Amino acid sequence: MSKEYCVLNNVNLRLYNTMRLKAFADYLLLPYNDMGVKSIFKDYNDVIVIGNGSNIIFSESEYSSPFLCTKLLDELEFDGNSIIAGSGVRLSDLAWFALEKHISGFEFLEDIPGSVGGALSMNAGTYNDNIQNIVRSVIVYDRDSDSIIELDSSMLLPHWGKRDSYFLHHNCIIISCKFNASLSDDYLSILDKMLEIKKNRYKKQPRDYPSAGSVFKRPYLNGEPFYIWKIIDECGLRGYSIGGAQISTKHPGFIINTGNATGKDVLDLIEYIKSIVLSKYGILLEEEWRIY
Ligand SMILES: Cc1cc2nc3c(=O)[nH]c(=O)nc-3n(C[C@H](O)[C@H](O)[C@H](O)COP(=O)(O)OP(=O)(O)OC[C@H]3O[C@@H](n4cnc5c(N)ncnc54)[C@H](O)[C@@H]3O)c2cc1C
Repeated sequence: MSKEYCVLNNVNLRLYNTMRLKAFADYLLLPYNDMGVKSIFKDYNDVIVIGNGSNIIFSESEYSSPFLCTKLLDELEFDGNSIIAGSGVRLSDLAWFALEKHISGFEFLEDIPGSVGGALSMNAGTYNDNIQNIVRSVIVYDRDSDSIIELDSSMLLPHWGKRDSYFLHHNCIIISCKFNASLSDDYLSILDKMLEIKKNRYKKQPRDYPSAGSVFKRPYLNGEPFYIWKIIDECGLRGYSIGGAQISTKHPGFIINTGNATGKDVLDLIEYIKSIVLSKYGILLEEEWRIY
């Protein structure tokens, strides 16, 4: 076995996706460091990269393509100017770490159940904040040049978009990120903000069932934004289910797994929603999720 990464065989990916879909992978590869990431791409083809699996859907029940999971890239430190976080660091751990160092600006990340790498790829955020606003630089393994390089925030700037980033359009794997760190005198107000955001989200979202967050990007018609949950509600789809996949009765913008959903159930439900919304509103919904 390589010293730079760990290999697991015949792995049930159920615990590697927040929708808790069952899917078997012949190989799950866990790099210990940047060299591990590089070696994996030398040793394997068709590698699928995942972080915490909170924005992905497995469409298959078995995969021969290897999965690279960043879980062990979990470095987290403060150097006086920046927080440096490995791509596998959970966003909640990052937010609590920032709080403990009296650093504000990370509160909105605490309740997003992703990793740093996944959040940078998806430019994760809430209505008011997106991760792009706190990035100083990102270290990636660039597959085209087969090298580890540092991308400054100015290089990333033109590519940030709504759930879009440089990383989705370039052949690279995020290794770690340097975040801007602004110290705050008011430690408790950071904590209050974090808990307030969490409470509001728990009030609205179906946290008692597995999900992968909002299914669709917010749609626009003639430049006007629409609330996705309202559209789905007006189509009479709240609570509609296919197999174990159900449109949440609490928040119709979410699909939940009521127990034994398969990837096919979820994808069939997405297609059904899209066809109804298209015929009623003339809007073609676009998934926020990455489907593998
Ligand atoms: C209950 C719930 C609430 C949510 N709320 C929000 C929210 O408020 N805002 C929001 O934006 N999202 C939200 N999400 C979605 C999700 O948590 C975010 O998109 C998150 O940032 C995804 O991170 P991840 O590590 O889980 O990525 P994954 O789901 O594992 O991967 C997502 C994409 O990122 C790529 N990727 C992951 N790591 C790397 C890496 N190191 N290098 C290159 N590519 C990589 C993967 O290949 C994939 O294309 C929510 C999800 C759930 C379940």
